[in-house]
Amino acid sequence: MTLEDYEKEMLRCSRCSHCKWVPLSQIKSWRFAYSCPSISKYNFHTYSAGGRLIMGLALIKNMIDFSEKMMEIVYECQMCGACDVSCAFVSDRKPTEIIHELRVKCVKEGTINPKLKEIIEDTRKYSNPYRESQEERGDWAKGLNIKKLPEEKAEVLYYVGCTAAYRYPDIARNTATILKKAGVDFGILGKDEKCCTSTSFVIGDEKIFEEFAKENIETFNNLGVKTIVTSCAGCYHMLKVYYTRIAKPNYKVLHQSEFIAKLIKQGKIKLTREVPMRVTYHDPCHLGRLSEPYQPSYGKEYKVLNQLVIRDVKKVYGAKGVYEPPRRILKKIPGLQLVEMERNREYAWCCGSGAGVKKLNPEFAEWTGEERIEEAKATGAEAIVTACPFCVRGLEDAIKKKGEKMKVYELNEIILKSMD
Ligand code: SF4
Ligand code: SF4
Repeated sequence: MTLEDYEKEMLRCSRCSHCKWVPLSQIKSWRFAYSCPSISKYNFHTYSAGGRLIMGLALIKNMIDFSEKMMEIVYECQMCGACDVSCAFVSDRKPTEIIHELRVKCVKEGTINPKLKEIIEDTRKYSNPYRESQEERGDWAKGLNIKKLPEEKAEVLYYVGCTAAYRYPDIARNTATILKKAGVDFGILGKDEKCCTSTSFVIGDEKIFEEFAKENIETFNNLGVKTIVTSCAGCYHMLKVYYTRIAKPNYKVLHQSEFIAKLIKQGKIKLTREVPMRVTYHDPCHLGRLSEPYQPSYGKEYKVLNQLVIRDVKKVYGAKGVYEPPRRILKKIPGLQLVEMERNREYAWCCGSGAGVKKLNPEFAEWTGEERIEEAKATGAEAIVTACPFCVRGLEDAIKKKGEKMKVYELNEIILKSMD
């Protein structure tokens, strides 16, 4: 699909503004009623999903051009998908898909911000967006005696991802330690693992996504593994949702929280030690509402009274994400109390880091994270647990900026505290 293909969708955006808020029936308080970080911060309609749809329409009708301001607004958005969930309650325009196509057009025909360009160029050059050495990608695993694929064979591939491999090696080590303790036959690609291109893709560069996805899928298929386990919600989202657009996989993709929840159910992991803590859980957008496999859901059109167009689309989106496995794990830990934030599961507020915003506008990213910290504090929790290294980073930076004492844990750190 191209932006032009969405012309009807953009025309049918009724400017109702539901995409700015948590669906009305789900709002718990005025303080945490917004769902879109962008409109919440900038408070001008163009910064909402609906506003971006109008901008997209104006662009394909040659009513506006790729001005600096227009490009800025397109990218002051975390691509968090909250607008999709709210719009689905009233209209189902799937705004995030359309904003993605708007970004693809910006990359192809406009001049994107050099900071965003850098992410794409670095990913192509280094196979990761952090300019780190490919040779050192597997260094986090030193001393853990983990199988190296494809030289060795295993049933499960642990796809670590750039952020855990280079920025949060403890998250990778914790995951590997849990898998080892549970007796899982797994291996890693080490220096042969390449970026999933999540950030480049959401910036709108489909070329690099297609190149890397083809190569990665070929590598995965040739390994003969049954399952791929990811640490990062962004990698999970790419491998599960978007890679299937490129080629058919012969493996199953699971997030580590799903995989570990199964191991607990099978009795291979026992959570016996007390972890006396009151925590709240932050749903990563890519693990939650954005993790539903892609399927065009624009439905069949019908006309009422021969003029009013309606569609047979189900008005539910985002409800099938990975919400329960991390919660099931936390609830099994003795002594640990889980309390929910007002905006949870498909209504969760973004950590602020996604879609290039962290690099392009760190102040906006941190502001978004600070909002989440406020919401977490309102629950009385002493810590936030999440299941994505990128969210850990976003939330930790926000806490630091706010000068708060709250701690952020990646789920596996808590699991290890409770394991035998
Ligand atoms: S994108 Fe959807 S929710 Fe937002 S203004 Fe348009 S129709 Fe309304
Ligand atoms: S993707 Fe998120 S930040 Fe972007 S318009 Fe939708 S709700 Fe707002």
